[in-house]
Amino acid sequence: MYHQPVLKNRRTLLERAEKFVSDVYFTDCNLRGRLYGETCPMESLSSFLTPKRMSYSEALQQTFQPCKVGDSFGPTWWTCWFKVSLNIPETWEGKEVHFRWEIDGEGMVWKDGQPCQGLTKEGEKTSYVLTTSLKNEEPHSLTLYVEMACNGLFGAGKGSMIAAPDPNKMYTLQSAELVVFNRDTRELLTDFEMLVDVVKMLGEADQRGYQALFTVNEMVNVCDPADPSSYPAARCLALRFFSQRNGQSQHTVHAMGHCHIDSAWLWPYEETIRKCARSWVTVIRLMEKNPDFVFTCSQAQQFEWVKDWYPGLFAQIKTFVESGRFIVVGGTWVEMDGNLPSGESMVRQFLEGQRFFQQEFGVHCKEFWLPDTFGYSAQLPQMMRGSGITRFLTQKLSWNLVNTFPHNTFFWEGLDGSQVLTHFPPGNTYEMKGKVEDVSHNFEDTFQPQEGQASSADRNVAFQLLNTVRNNKDKGRANHSAVLFGFGDGGGGPTQLMLDRLQRVQDTDGLPKVQMSGPDRFFCELEADSSLLCTWSGELFLELHNGTYTTQAQIKLGNRQCEALLHDVEVASSLAQCRSPAFRYPASTLRRLWRLLLLNQFHDVLPGSCTEMVVQDALAYYNDIRSTGCSLLKQACVLLAGEQGGATAVFNSLPWERHEVVMLRGSTELALVKVPSVGMGSVTDTLQPECPVSVTVQPDGTYLMENGLLRVAVDKAGRLTSLCLLKVSREAISDGCYGNQFVIFDDVPLYWDAWDVMDYHLQTRKPVVEAARPAVIVSPGGLRGIVSYTLKISERSSITQEIILDAMCPYVKFDTQVDWAESHKFLKVEFPVRVRSPNAVYEVQFGHLQRPTHRNTSWDWARFEVWGHKWADLSEHGFGVALLNDCKYGYSADRNTLSLSLLRAPKAPDANADMGQHRFMYAVMPHSGSFQDSSVIQCAYNLNFPLRLVPDSPSFSSWSAFSISSPAVILETIKQAEDHDDALVVRLYESYGSSVRVTLSSSLKLRKVSHCDLLERPVPSKPSPLTASGISLDFTPFQIVSLLLFLD
Ligand SMILES: [Zn+2]
Repeated sequence: MYHQPVLKNRRTLLERAEKFVSDVYFTDCNLRGRLYGETCPMESLSSFLTPKRMSYSEALQQTFQPCKVGDSFGPTWWTCWFKVSLNIPETWEGKEVHFRWEIDGEGMVWKDGQPCQGLTKEGEKTSYVLTTSLKNEEPHSLTLYVEMACNGLFGAGKGSMIAAPDPNKMYTLQSAELVVFNRDTRELLTDFEMLVDVVKMLGEADQRGYQALFTVNEMVNVCDPADPSSYPAARCLALRFFSQRNGQSQHTVHAMGHCHIDSAWLWPYEETIRKCARSWVTVIRLMEKNPDFVFTCSQAQQFEWVKDWYPGLFAQIKTFVESGRFIVVGGTWVEMDGNLPSGESMVRQFLEGQRFFQQEFGVHCKEFWLPDTFGYSAQLPQMMRGSGITRFLTQKLSWNLVNTFPHNTFFWEGLDGSQVLTHFPPGNTYEMKGKVEDVSHNFEDTFQPQEGQASSADRNVAFQLLNTVRNNKDKGRANHSAVLFGFGDGGGGPTQLMLDRLQRVQDTDGLPKVQMSGPDRFFCELEADSSLLCTWSGELFLELHNGTYTTQAQIKLGNRQCEALLHDVEVASSLAQCRSPAFRYPASTLRRLWRLLLLNQFHDVLPGSCTEMVVQDALAYYNDIRSTGCSLLKQACVLLAGEQGGATAVFNSLPWERHEVVMLRGSTELALVKVPSVGMGSVTDTLQPECPVSVTVQPDGTYLMENGLLRVAVDKAGRLTSLCLLKVSREAISDGCYGNQFVIFDDVPLYWDAWDVMDYHLQTRKPVVEAARPAVIVSPGGLRGIVSYTLKISERSSITQEIILDAMCPYVKFDTQVDWAESHKFLKVEFPVRVRSPNAVYEVQFGHLQRPTHRNTSWDWARFEVWGHKWADLSEHGFGVALLNDCKYGYSADRNTLSLSLLRAPKAPDANADMGQHRFMYAVMPHSGSFQDSSVIQCAYNLNFPLRLVPDSPSFSSWSAFSISSPAVILETIKQAEDHDDALVVRLYESYGSSVRVTLSSSLKLRKVSHCDLLERPVPSKPSPLTASGISLDFTPFQIVSLLLFLD
């Protein structure tokens, strides 16, 4: 018998098979060229353009004008509605017929008034299936509408993905027609593609790869593209290969459909609503055809949008949620930034998210899901646990620029010791599409965007699967990994092709086993065999995108101020409710405002990595929160102060007594007031300071400011030449150095402009020293001393600052205004101090943590720019210096210099980011003892939560609603309980890092007190802490405790 010669030439055999399915070469005779059959133009096509995003019914009332393939539509952000009339030829009976639509905009097909499917070229969705087998009795004529957004998946960046949008982009209709789709060709192509990938991925060292090679070669031999009757023989050969099974020990990959949709980024919030609808309706269509397909979906806010705008689609989603295939994950309102939101904000992300999912779907999420944010706070494990979550999935640390994170599956231990089982999918993406580049190059090598590379999507499932096994850093410890597959950001998630490919290799020798899984099944497998897993303690710091602590300063300011305002509204309203039964707690308005605040904490908004349109939306939301919140606060405070009178009352929302200088109405008169903890005082209780402030000019022209606690020397350029803590006669400023030294850096990253500040910016430091207006005394002392001056940054930018020293105040405030018109510059302020310590301390959510001041290892120097909240501190035993602020988040500590990051000037994706006027406050506070014992934490709160004045109040004796026996424990939150009108929820945390027993005392009449979790569910296992002397509570370091207080 004659045997065809197969020579030992791997290269020609492999390329022969590749050319057999190439969409570039030999399509006249290869298999790819047979994928589509006959085509037929549309009966008619007409369209109309609108700048608005309008409903289907509104769109139908417009006048459609005839148009044709080749026409262009736009400009950017407009919407074009197309009316498409089709007539399928009778001769196509028995054939699968597709409506093929190619244009660069994002499309939605509407039929009979319902959204049917998304059509996006970048998401490889260019076909809408009209019938899988045309029947004679089927209607052959039909009308479709296509709603097309004039923007791509990633907005409309001019020249590069993250460039500011091009407002004049036009979108050309490249194809619109009926086409016969040859399903048998598609199936055989998929076999070929998978085998070619296996050959390439397994390489020359693996004998299984050669089996794939000879299989695919034989398939070319037996297949005649022009003769479909030859296809089954080729498919049989493929099936024989795919069905040769693995041994028992093989790694299992849990494949989960996913579609990461940024709630706003390179497009505005409003477009995200349509992205969700387009993507999720496409997912529903896939589910109808693929009974095993499961899809994971996060962000309660997006579900709420779809519920409001697409109720029919939402109802369909609900049924698939019930059947366990459309899987709700994450448990948060949005996928928020993991660093900057306050502790209470993060709690509310979980509270609003979990409650929404419970109410709408009866689902409680057991996994926290945050694949794409820029670092993860060390308090997240405790907050997850408190929200009924024990598992966490992300992958972003694979983007680390310097160090490779050592685990994929591990226990993550938070600040308080809480642990959650954590998985980073080893494929290092949440949008597995399977390009060769994904495998061979990581982001670190290329600095090219990963998100948005959607060129040759999903060719290489085999590559992805093998990559998942090979990259796994916990080999032998964890034998299960997750793969998230699907196009994100409007790309419609997975494709049928992805599902077909995964289906072929469920158990194929040489490749990991593949199963469609939800996160529950996946994590259960990990939990069942977790004895060898390692533990990572502390924060998950992302060594990239460190500019996002500073970019878009107005958004940061809005976030911090609105967090404080909503805190105060809740405290005041809770107390008002207790004092007057007539007062109605504004629960629904507060929920609305919180949800706006939480939405703006999305991981491209609060970090400032969004376009100008998004910034405008975000700032409008903050203004809404400010104006509505202020009027709610006023209503509650007026009730708390009592009937009208000629005095001014002062409201303190913080849980300690405060002595502060306040400015009375008319903004000239000052008063030193004493206000009890969580209570009210009257300005009639004003105090006289033991030691008034003095400001004097020295012979050398510098100013000396003194208040009995501090003595500050300020030079003509506003720099501190001396800062003395009088009690212990300690000088805080380093010898020969200046405190409050502004410095400016060149700030040109490698690619991600708004996101990144690179290590090399530190080599470009220039002090800002040119005084445009030398320092002068504005207020010579008494209750407040002020020195003011102006510095010139450049011809375009300047800083005007008031240095403020108040009576009895242990810190110096810097009220700062900047006119900012720079390009790629970074402004910071430095305090070189007389402190030697290997670590600096930074406030985080409900606590603080340490980071190094030295640059010993790569893990140390990779943290050259770090985040913190209201304060940072550098202390040696017995003495230290803290830096406080009212709206900043970026810090650095290099040896003995503490710096606060103030303003950046990136140009993409917002070309005007941070241009204009800024106003912010920071403060420096030298202290003896530890920062804990010297009230640094309390002072930082005071700076952020101003005493609220209530004019036209009666004179009354001050009162307090709550006090705590130890300053280590902070009463952070007082609000109405979600499920009980007659109960309050209070949340406290241990802030020193100590174990402590405290008594929380309250003047409110309490009927019952019980422990609850962060979702406000009672914890019956814990006994009631209510005793005769108050509420008795035990804390471990950084522990968060929530209580339900039932009012009498
Ligand atoms: Zn994202």
